[in-house]
Amino acid sequence: MQHLSTHKFVNDFTEAFDGDQSGDTQPRQTPGVLYSRVLPSPVKAPKLLAWTTDLAADLGIAEPDENDLNILGGNAVNPSMKPYAACYAGHQFGNWAGQLGDGRAITLGEWPLPDGKTWELQLKGAGLTPYSRRADGRAVLRSSVREYLMSEAMFHLGVPTTRALSLVATGDQVRRDMFYDGRPAPEPGAIVMRAAPSFLRFGNFEMLSARKEYENLQKLVDWTIERFYPELTGADKTLQWFKKVMESTATMVVEWLRVGFVHGVMNTDNMSILGLTIDYGPFSFLDAYDLNFSPNTTDHPGLRYAYGKQHSIAYWNLSCLANAISPLFEDPKELISTVESFGPVFYEKFYSMKADKMGLDELVTGDINLIDDFENLMAEIQPDMTIFYQLLGDLPDGLTDPTAIHTHFTPSFYYDLSEIQQDLLAKNISIYQERLGKNTISRAVSKSKMRASNPRFILRNYLLYEAIQELEKGNDQLFKKLQKALATPYSKTHDEFFALRPQWANEQPGSATLSCSS
Ligand code: AMP
Ligand code: MG
Repeated sequence: MQHLSTHKFVNDFTEAFDGDQSGDTQPRQTPGVLYSRVLPSPVKAPKLLAWTTDLAADLGIAEPDENDLNILGGNAVNPSMKPYAACYAGHQFGNWAGQLGDGRAITLGEWPLPDGKTWELQLKGAGLTPYSRRADGRAVLRSSVREYLMSEAMFHLGVPTTRALSLVATGDQVRRDMFYDGRPAPEPGAIVMRAAPSFLRFGNFEMLSARKEYENLQKLVDWTIERFYPELTGADKTLQWFKKVMESTATMVVEWLRVGFVHGVMNTDNMSILGLTIDYGPFSFLDAYDLNFSPNTTDHPGLRYAYGKQHSIAYWNLSCLANAISPLFEDPKELISTVESFGPVFYEKFYSMKADKMGLDELVTGDINLIDDFENLMAEIQPDMTIFYQLLGDLPDGLTDPTAIHTHFTPSFYYDLSEIQQDLLAKNISIYQERLGKNTISRAVSKSKMRASNPRFILRNYLLYEAIQELEKGNDQLFKKLQKALATPYSKTHDEFFALRPQWANEQPGSATLSCSS
C-alpha cells in the first residue's frame, strides 16, 4: 500500500499531448491543446467523510493520513502530479454547445498499478479552471454525496462505472440556486475523488474535430486505442475501435435498463469513451416503472433523457462521435453502416438481459413477443420495478388463479389496479408460467439467474435525500447504512429498505425532482 502524498504518479496523458502550461484560471477558449494545467484551490478545513476501502485496496492506496487528506481536499499536491483540467466540447440537450471542459474537475495524475496500467485520480469540486465559465468550480455536499454513493452502488450492481475513492467536506460554503428561483443560498461544500482508467468523453473527440485539429484528433484516437484496445492493430483499427465504443455504450445502457437507472443528462460530454457511467448529476432509479420518467427538471419540457429513451439517445450520441471522427476516414461508408447497426447490437443485448431478469434459459421463438408484452404490461400498470421483479422471482409454481396472481404482486403497486389491468396481469403471468415450463434449465437454476439479475436493494432517491438531510445536520447514521447496503444489492440482508417509495417523497424536490444546480 502506498500513500497518495508520497507515491510516484505517472502523467501519460499530459506527456502525450499539448496542453496550456500557464496555470491561469481565467475563463477562455483554449484552441490547439487537449488540457490546461491547473492546481486545485485550497479549502478551509478538509474533513474526510468517507473512504472507499475496497477500491483503495484494489488500487493499492493506503488509508489516508494527514498529508493524504490535504491532497483529497485540494490543499496540497504530490510533487510527481501534474494536475490538469481536460478540454472537451459536447452536444447538450441536442444542441452543439462548443467548448465545455472540466469546469470543476481536476485530474491530479495517474496512479500506477503493478500490471503497468494506470488509473486517473480526479478531484471534483476542487476550484476554478479555465473551463469554469461563469461558475465557481465547486460542488455542494448534497451532489457530492449523491455521486459518491451512487458510483459505488452502480459498481456493486455490476454496472460499468467510474468510481469514487473519497468524500471530503471542505469546511467552506458554496452558494447555489437549487430551485432556480433566484434565491441562492449557502450550502456546505465538498469534494469527491473520482477514479477511472480514463475520464475521456465523446466530447474530447468532438472538440478536436470541431476545431479541425485533425492531427490531434488522430493522435487522441491512436492513443486511446493503444492504451485501452491494444489488440486492435490492423489498417481498419479506427473503425474497429468505434465498434468497440458502440458495443460498450450499448452494454452500459442495457445495464442501466436492467437495474432501472436514469442518468438524467446524457449530453455527449457526459458519455465516457470507455462505456462507463460518468458524471452523476440529476440521476434516479425508477420507483414506478414509468418509461417517461426523468428526475431532471432541466429536461422536463421534452423529457429527452427519460428512462425509456436512453438507448435512442445513446445512438444519437454515437452518431455525434462518428461524425466527429469521420474526417479520419477516406470513405466513411463503413463508419456510417457501423453506427446504423446500433439497433441490432443493442436489442440483442437488451432481450438477453430481459430473458435473464425473467429466468428464461435462452431466447426461443415467441420470446421476443413475450418480453415485449411483458414490457407493455409493466408500462401500463407501473409497478415498483425492483419489488415487481423480486415478486416475479418468488412466483409460486403453477399460480394461475387471477385473484391469487393479483394478490401476489400487490406489494409492488402504487395504486389499485383496474379490472382490465388485473386481467392483463393475470394473462401475461399465465403465458409466462407456460413458457417457464418449457425451460431446459431447472427452476432452481432459473431462479438463481433471476436473483443475479434483479437487485433487491437500490439506492432510491428518497433514501439519498434523507441521508443528505441528516448529514447536513451532522448525523451520518443513514449514510453509513446505505453505504453498507449498496455493497450487497442482490441479498436480503438490507430488507429494511425493501419497500415502496413513501408518499412524502412523491413530489419532494431534491428527491423526486432534481436540478442541475450542484
Ligand atoms: P454537467 O452538465 O454537470 O456535466 O456540466 C456541464 C459543464 O458545466 C461541464 O463543463 C462542467 O465542468 C461545467 N460545470 C458544472 N458545474 C460547474 C461549477 N460549479 N463550476 C464550474 N464548472 C461547472
Ligand atoms: Mg459533465
